[in-house]
Amino acid sequence: MKIFITRPIPDIGIQLLRDKGYEVLINEAARDRAADKSEILKGVKGADALLCTLTEKIDSEIMDAGLPTLKMIANYAVGFDNIDVEAARQRNIMVANTPGVLTDTVAEHTFALMLAISHRIAEADKFIRAGKYNAWGPTLLLGDDLSGKTLGVIGLGRIGSRVAYHAVKGFDMEVLYNDIKPDAGFEKELGAVFIEKLEDLLPGCDYVSLHVPLLDSTQHLINEQRLKMMKTSAYLINTSRGPIIDEKALVRALKEGWIRGAAIDVFENEPEVERGLMKLNNIILTPHIASATHETRDKMAALAAKNIIEALEGRVPPNLVK
Ligand code: NAD
Repeated sequence: MKIFITRPIPDIGIQLLRDKGYEVLINEAARDRAADKSEILKGVKGADALLCTLTEKIDSEIMDAGLPTLKMIANYAVGFDNIDVEAARQRNIMVANTPGVLTDTVAEHTFALMLAISHRIAEADKFIRAGKYNAWGPTLLLGDDLSGKTLGVIGLGRIGSRVAYHAVKGFDMEVLYNDIKPDAGFEKELGAVFIEKLEDLLPGCDYVSLHVPLLDSTQHLINEQRLKMMKTSAYLINTSRGPIIDEKALVRALKEGWIRGAAIDVFENEPEVERGLMKLNNIILTPHIASATHETRDKMAALAAKNIIEALEGRVPPNLVK
């Protein structure tokens, strides 16, 4: 069996595949950049499985280049909007992702962003390094508390529900949530309140955190109209996918004070970042690192390898995308 890996991933995943006696080809050239389509088209020829990351768009042309041998595409991510799943289905190629193992880490990063923007951590750090710290001040760099405030969670799945849990248990926050369906058990456990329409959720929240997958129905879910529904004192956090926010509208919202601040890990046209956002102080930007801890990236590598092994040994991979 031959496995093509589009970018170097932690060794633990590669070792699991090699231990099975598979031939593992790694596109080493793409260590610090996305893989080129030409590299993938070449590497996937004759491969039984393709292990890819979210920086690669896996389309029908790539799948056809892998046929007739290609049986499996294992994404090194939980979101799989980079893969044409329908094209894979038509060609009987399995697709798998890495859910669950990154939930805690992404929830932690969400709180890192929420705390950093509300307590003005990045601004304060720049302030000191610029030599501006002359004396403690009663109104120096005032921020906002999380405790006792209301958090709106949009998408109460694995990550959204973990964020809601930390908010209630760790910060005594009230949680409102929106999803395509309510979760009665979760409401009972945490006292979270389901709000069917975003129009009714947004005006009541001090913080809004996005945790939906990127789908046609969630593209620009947060647009000009909805940003204007938020409190002028509110903060928007996004660790899901960039296109869920209309970035141009976000620039105006932050500049014109429709909301107080934002902290985002993902961008509409990654790795490009809307220039208007870079000029603002009331936003914190991280380069899609919400799952980037040593522990989690190892677990993702092992899970992606496990998905491949199960599929190639004729079993249903644990994280088959249906
Ligand atoms: P999940 O499938 O468990 O949760 C997604 C939730 O969104 C589900 O409850 C679903 O019902 C809900 N949903 C779907 N469409 C909706 C809509 N139109 N309105 C409201 N709710 C809707 O997924 P997860 O594991 O919690 O991951 C969520 C997303 O986070 C992933 O799809 C991925 O894109 C993103 N993610 C980003 C990073 C990062 O590094 N920044 C890491 C992991 C995941």
